[in-house]
Amino acid sequence: MSYHVNEKGYYGEFGGAFIPEMLYPNVEELRQQYLKVMEEPSFKKEFNQLLKDYVGRPSPLYYAKRMSEKYGTKIYLKREDLNHTGAHKVNNTIGQILMAKRLGKTRIIAETGAGQHGVATATVCALMGIECIVYMGAIDIARQAPNVARMKMLGAEVRPALSGSRTLKDATNEAIRDWINNPVDTHYIIGSAIGPHPYPDMVTRFQSVISAEIKTQLKEKEDKENPDYVVACIGGGSNAAGTFYHFLDEKEVGIIAVEAAGKGVNSGESAATSVLGHKGIIHGCKTLLMQTDDGQITEPYSISAGLDYPGVGPMHSHLHTTGRADFMAITDDDAMKAGLELCKLEGIIPAIETSHALAIFEQRRFEPNDIIVVALSGRGDKDLNTYINYFGL
Ligand SMILES: *Cc1c(COP(=O)(O)O)cnc(C)c1O
Repeated sequence: MSYHVNEKGYYGEFGGAFIPEMLYPNVEELRQQYLKVMEEPSFKKEFNQLLKDYVGRPSPLYYAKRMSEKYGTKIYLKREDLNHTGAHKVNNTIGQILMAKRLGKTRIIAETGAGQHGVATATVCALMGIECIVYMGAIDIARQAPNVARMKMLGAEVRPALSGSRTLKDATNEAIRDWINNPVDTHYIIGSAIGPHPYPDMVTRFQSVISAEIKTQLKEKEDKENPDYVVACIGGGSNAAGTFYHFLDEKEVGIIAVEAAGKGVNSGESAATSVLGHKGIIHGCKTLLMQTDDGQITEPYSISAGLDYPGVGPMHSHLHTTGRADFMAITDDDAMKAGLELCKLEGIIPAIETSHALAIFEQRRFEPNDIIVVALSGRGDKDLNTYINYFGL
C-alpha cells in the first residue's frame, strides 16, 4: 500500500487534476517543473536558509510535562506556533514563492478565508518584492478586519469576491478566474494540501519539514526517531500532511487526524468531512467532500475559521479510506476547553484549530510509555476575540 502520490497525481482513488481546459497550461507547467525545481541544490539552499533565518526553524519539540502528568502519558508539542506569522502556513508560502521565482513568475495571487493564508502569502511577497493580490469573500473581509489590515500593511491588494455566499469558495473561484486570464506571469499560491495535482503533493513536501524535524529532535530526546502517535488537526490538511509525511510508511507510528465536529457531527453544523463526506470534486481534485445528494457543496461550520472547510485534501481521504489514520471529530465546546487547559497547564495560548487536536486526550486513553507528538499548528493571538466571547473574559 502506498500513501504517496502516484505519477498521475492520485492517492489511491483520490486526487487528480479536474480543471477547466483554460487552466491546463498553468497547472501542466507546474506539474512538469515542481520536483525538478525542488531538487535543485540552489533551491534547497535558499528554502532552508529562509526557514532558518526568517521563519525561525527548527521549531522546538517541547515536552509538555504538566499536560503529560495530567493524562498519564508522554506528550510532545511541535511548536509551529513559534514560526514567524504564528503558524505552519508560512512553510508553504516560502516554498511556493521560491517556486514562482524559479518559474519566472512576477505576480502572485491567493485565496483566503479567515485571512491566515492571505497574510502568509502577503508576507513572502513583501519579502521578495513581488506583486500580491489576495481574493477574499466580501463577508470574510467584513468579519476578519485585522487580517485585512495586515495584508494591506504588507503591501498586498485585497480584492473582494462579491458572488455566491461571498466566502472562501467564491474567493477561490475569483482566484481561478484571475489565473486563467493571466497564465504567463502569475503563480497561484494555494494554502493547504488541496487543489489539482501537483498542489497537494507540493504543499505536503514543503510542510514535511515538520516531520523531518520531529525525527531528529525525538532521536535527541528519546533516543528513537519514531513516536507511538502523531496527531494533527485537519482543515484542508497541510499541517497534518507535513506532520505525518515521514511517518506514513513507518507502520509502528499511529496517525491521528482531528476534524472539527462543530456543534456535533449530526447537528447540521459541522465540518467533520471524513464522517459526513462523500466522494466529489472540489478545488480541482477528487476527494471526500460534504455535499447534498445532488452534489451541491454543504456549508461547513466550525468555531475555528481554519477548520471550516467542506473537504479534506486527497491524501487524507486516502489515509481515512485505507484505515492508515484514525479520524476523530471534536466539538467546538471540547476544543475551547482544551485550548484553555493548555494555557493553564503549559503557559501556551493555542490557535483554536490546534485546540481541536489537544482535545483528544479527554476522549482517548494512551499508555504511560506512549510517546505522542501533537502538531501545535498555530498561536492563539488571532483568536483572542473568540476566546473572549466564548468564556466571557
Ligand atoms: C489554516 C490553519 C489550520 C488548518 O489548515 P491545514 O491546511 O489543515 O493545516 C490549522 N491550524 C492553524 C493555526 C491554521 O492557521
